[in-house]
Amino acid sequence: MSLIVQKFGGTSVGSVERIQTVAQRIYKTVQAGNQVVVVVSAMGKTTDSLVGLAQEITSTPSKREMDMLLSTGEQVSIALMSMALQELGQPAISLTGAQVGIMTETAHSRARILQIKTERLQRHLQEGKVIVVAGFQGIGEGEDLEITTLGRGGSDTSAVALAAALQAKQCEIYTDVPGILTTDPRLVPEARLMTEITADEMLELASLGAKVLHPRAVEIARNYGIPLVVLSSWTDDPGTRVISPMPKPRSLDNLEIAKAVDAVELDGDQAKVALLRVPDRPGIAARLFGEIARHEVDVDLIIQSIHEGNSNDIAFTVVKEVLNHAEAVAEAIAPALRLDSSPSSNEAEVLVERNIAKIAIAGAGMIGRPGIAATMFATLADAGVNIDMISTSEVKVSCTIAKEDCDRAIQALCNTFGIESSPLHLPSHTQIENSPPVRGVALDRSQAQLGIRHVPDHPGMAAKIFTLLADQGISVDMIIQSQRCRIINGTPTRDIACTVAQADITTARSTLENLVAQWGMSEVLVNTAVAKVSVVGAGMIGHPGVAAKMFAALADHSINIHMITTSEIKISCIVPEEDGVTALQAIHKAFNLAGQEQVKVPV
Ligand code: ADP
Ligand code: ASP
Ligand code: MG
Repeated sequence: MSLIVQKFGGTSVGSVERIQTVAQRIYKTVQAGNQVVVVVSAMGKTTDSLVGLAQEITSTPSKREMDMLLSTGEQVSIALMSMALQELGQPAISLTGAQVGIMTETAHSRARILQIKTERLQRHLQEGKVIVVAGFQGIGEGEDLEITTLGRGGSDTSAVALAAALQAKQCEIYTDVPGILTTDPRLVPEARLMTEITADEMLELASLGAKVLHPRAVEIARNYGIPLVVLSSWTDDPGTRVISPMPKPRSLDNLEIAKAVDAVELDGDQAKVALLRVPDRPGIAARLFGEIARHEVDVDLIIQSIHEGNSNDIAFTVVKEVLNHAEAVAEAIAPALRLDSSPSSNEAEVLVERNIAKIAIAGAGMIGRPGIAATMFATLADAGVNIDMISTSEVKVSCTIAKEDCDRAIQALCNTFGIESSPLHLPSHTQIENSPPVRGVALDRSQAQLGIRHVPDHPGMAAKIFTLLADQGISVDMIIQSQRCRIINGTPTRDIACTVAQADITTARSTLENLVAQWGMSEVLVNTAVAKVSVVGAGMIGHPGVAAKMFAALADHSINIHMITTSEIKISCIVPEEDGVTALQAIHKAFNLAGQEQVKVPV
């Protein structure tokens, strides 16, 4: 007999009829000879309504009381689901997170799961019962039995964690769409269903705003090798499989608190090309990278930070072998990149750096954990290593540094993050055969852009900035340190930009304004009217032209790019907020991701 964990989201249990339909499905799974543990969310929009009630009383509710309030939603749906099963003649029992023994940190509203007790679950399974567990909630460590929640959308995480703890054969996430699609069907109705996606790709998409799966659920599935499938609550179609490589055996203690950083990566075979003072207008990145792609030159990191006046700097890295070629292409196009049409206007300047290395820390554990990037920057500063460029994704922070600093940097990072220093490895990504370069695209409208102009360029500055933000509990998303170096009052300076959740922008701004006041020459800039569009695909590694195509799609719609960051399997652009949806649709189309028919999303 196999054990299966089935999770049903809010829409799937949104009414009594839907609960009864879902109960039939669970009953069938049991009849087919399986043991079933069910996880449910609160009915429909219950959680949102509860948030609304709290907001009517206070705009700053205590996190503890919010957990007390929000955890009630799931308690309703577990009881009703259990009754519906019993009505079908299926023995069932509902349990809250506390009753199961889902032990979490005490951090209210964003607790991570430490451990799941399985004794009671095993007992009820032996009795032939279906167990219906409340998703999204747990119980804090310690004597006080504090109710905690895992963060919005956290029922997916409850389900996969239960599957890991019970060593289930499979975890099935039932939802209101047919599976994982190339993008959000509410924004692009012709989004196509995928049959498979790698956990690495899904992790990037989920943390970029594809809310069909909670990123922490993907992380647990990947860490423990749990077969995970996302499918529709209304049909019998097979849905989408999330493919994880065989993981190393891992303890079930500290289930979600596994190391924040899994690997320190080094790539010593990189060189940098930067174009300084290119015009800040739609189409420039497209033109540059279009030309580079036409010459079949594969670029790795691409960085464009906040613009200054009417110009931008764009930098990218390539493997050393193709540096001369890349430089020649950049030199050839530079004269065409003038700030205005007059021939006297300065053309873009090309700058090449041969002796650089790329180092990165990688790990899904850094999502939602402020301070990991700051720790990296502080470690490098303590080792006397100056950071040249910075580019981040949700699960990776990459920096370029001087080649001669490599050994010291790696040693220091391995010590700090508890990583065995040898063998050092290049990033590895699971590939599904014949992977398209881009598997999915996502839009995140919840971020705001924060720039600090003229940060003194010496070791420790990035560390200072991001430690201060982390101390305020602010998670930073994209971080970019630009190419432009300005001498102000005799001090070389650089600009640093990042994005943070819109909800955190006021605190972030005042924190940084206090800091830069000490430097005298710096300035904090905020833009909340931005959106982030990203493309994700393990197939883009070694596939020239992906960035060019993305930038061209934006240029065709006259959409200006404020910032660019990349990782090996992702490219993200910050664009004006009002262009977000158009940008998503244009990119989806450019990569031919549309399916045959439109996806119907229930209201
Ligand atoms: P549930 O209540 O079942 O947990 P959610 O609302 O949390 O459901 O997640 C499902 C929703 O995620 C879909 O209705 C869809 O609008 C949205 N979504 C965003 N990106 C994607 C994507 N790439 N594939 C599928 N759904 C997506
Ligand atoms: N009910 C919770 C929420 O709406 C958890 C979940 O649905 O996953 O965020
Ligand atoms: Mg959800």
